[in-house]
Amino acid sequence: MRRYALQKLAHIDEHYSARYGMSMIENQKMIKEKGMDEFLKSQTEKYRCPSCGDLVSVHDGKCYACGYQGEKPLRKLANLNGKGSMGTDQK
Ligand SMILES: [Zn+2]
Repeated sequence: MRRYALQKLAHIDEHYSARYGMSMIENQKMIKEKGMDEFLKSQTEKYRCPSCGDLVSVHDGKCYACGYQGEKPLRKLANLNGKGSMGTDQK
């Protein structure tokens, strides 16, 4: 049961990493290690709108509070992941 759920999570995580440059597993690790407060704080910093201070969408980098368009995560990822992470390198 548990193992299945983890596999599923890993699969979803791959998707999110590939698409949005974020990892749910990494997030969970951080929550475990540093606590929810720290995690939320870091997320808030990461996705804060420079214009109004609200949170921008992780999906398209846009702030729906003021309409600010930040850097799109997809684009950022293309630069970061030069090493072919579409990967089936490991199972
Ligand atoms: Zn804003």
